[in-house]
Amino acid sequence: MIQIICGPCSAESEEQVLATASALVDIFADRKEYCHIAYRAGLWKPRTRPGTFEGVGEAGIPWLQRVRRETGLKVIVEVATPAHLEAVLKAGIDMIWVGARTTANPFAVQELADALQGVDISVFVKNPLNPDLDLWLGAVERIEMAGIRDISVIHRGFSFYEKGRYRNEPKWQVPIDLMRRRPDMRILCDPSHITGNREYLLEVSQMAMDLGFDGLFIESHIAPDSALSDPEQQIEPHSLGRMLDAIRIRSSIPEDEELSRRLQELRSRIDSLDEDILEILELRMGVVDQIGTQKRRGNITILQQQRWEEILEKTRSGALSRGLDPGFVEELFKLIHVASIKRQV
Ligand code: PEP
Ligand code: MN
Repeated sequence: MIQIICGPCSAESEEQVLATASALVDIFADRKEYCHIAYRAGLWKPRTRPGTFEGVGEAGIPWLQRVRRETGLKVIVEVATPAHLEAVLKAGIDMIWVGARTTANPFAVQELADALQGVDISVFVKNPLNPDLDLWLGAVERIEMAGIRDISVIHRGFSFYEKGRYRNEPKWQVPIDLMRRRPDMRILCDPSHITGNREYLLEVSQMAMDLGFDGLFIESHIAPDSALSDPEQQIEPHSLGRMLDAIRIRSSIPEDEELSRRLQELRSRIDSLDEDILEILELRMGVVDQIGTQKRRGNITILQQQRWEEILEKTRSGALSRGLDPGFVEELFKLIHVASIKRQV
């Protein structure tokens, strides 16, 4: 059973909130056996630049109360300040989430945690904008220390300067490390904020499911193109239904013994290949040290641009002829090159 929290980026009007909710209820009516849903909507929007739509604020609360009453869906809202929290609690909203910009600020999280003392509500904590696992876990711990028992986390990717395929870099290693450190924690993936584009929602959602995430936190809007915030990444409810049907949900525990044995064998091969990689790196670094000594003797610079270009070219064509992704191999050799330079300093 996967948990799907879906709904618009922002609550914009009573009609939009209700029409989106009722379309989602219809869509999920025949998918009840494998997912259960809740309804999200932002009331106070943390926008990057001023002068853009900053949410309807408390005015949207009665709309969400109507959604609860008329559809039976649980609703979840982002809170960033104790005042937001107070309004939400007074209105009987079921769950809250802490946004990426808030998680990044321990003062703001502590203020929320203080206001949560003695309150019984489910809290979802998004990762901070920067890939800092301790900062993310620290926010979870502040909320735990306030006595909240039902806490989940949401992976929404990490902001970076260059523009790439996605709006935010997933850096899957961070949520994987979080799962190791907090195996007790439920973790959802927010493919909307990772991708910034509905075209890529499926591939990122599939990756999250393959990594054993417990669910998805997705922006869905009745008319995405006219949305007042994040129009490119919101998905129309019917398309969301089709996308979910396309995701392959795999079991995390192999049930069949033969499969389990084959996996075990393949894993031991991986372990021994990883050993080989480490050994080769050790040998390579030994040669790097010798080159460093020669350069010092000859009083020449450590970085030899032409030689570096040569290595890049050689490894790129090597990657291509072996059917490896040249972008990946280039990244790998950049890391090796930087480490090699450091050893020679
Ligand atoms: C959101 O989910 O609407 C939102 C603002 O997300 P984030 O905090 O991840 O940017
Ligand atoms: Mn959004």
